[in-house]
Amino acid sequence: MKDMKGWIFSRLKGNRELRDKYEPIQFVSCPFNGSKCQKERAIINKRLANSFQFFSDRQYDDSIDELRYAFQETTDISGSPCTQCAQLFRTRITQSMEQIHGELQHMTTGFFRWDQYKPSYEFADNVISDFKQRI
Ligand SMILES: [Zn+2]
Repeated sequence: MKDMKGWIFSRLKGNRELRDKYEPIQFVSCPFNGSKCQKERAIINKRLANSFQFFSDRQYDDSIDELRYAFQETTDISGSPCTQCAQLFRTRITQSMEQIHGELQHMTTGFFRWDQYKPSYEFADNVISDFKQRI
């Protein structure tokens, strides 16, 4: 479990009600006080929360897909005055992706490795490379 230490949702684990209300991205130094990127931020937060739910259930592919959708959402903000916000969102999404990637790496390379997660690990590997190129 210590591998999940950095995951921002982990302390809310087991409390679905709290988690549903929880916003992974609460504050950004938005030039418009959040008004211009509010819609995207809400969607991204929802995706991040979904992703953690899937992650908790070891549905890694679905968890990664949610992060891909969230990342895609940030590209709608780019070009607007909220470019900085989009940058911050992408950084936050990539952090979550690193958590999934790290856990899958741990699970597929350890002594008790679980080969059934190998395709998910490869998927995670591709996605994280893609994020890092676009961050
Ligand atoms: Zn903004």
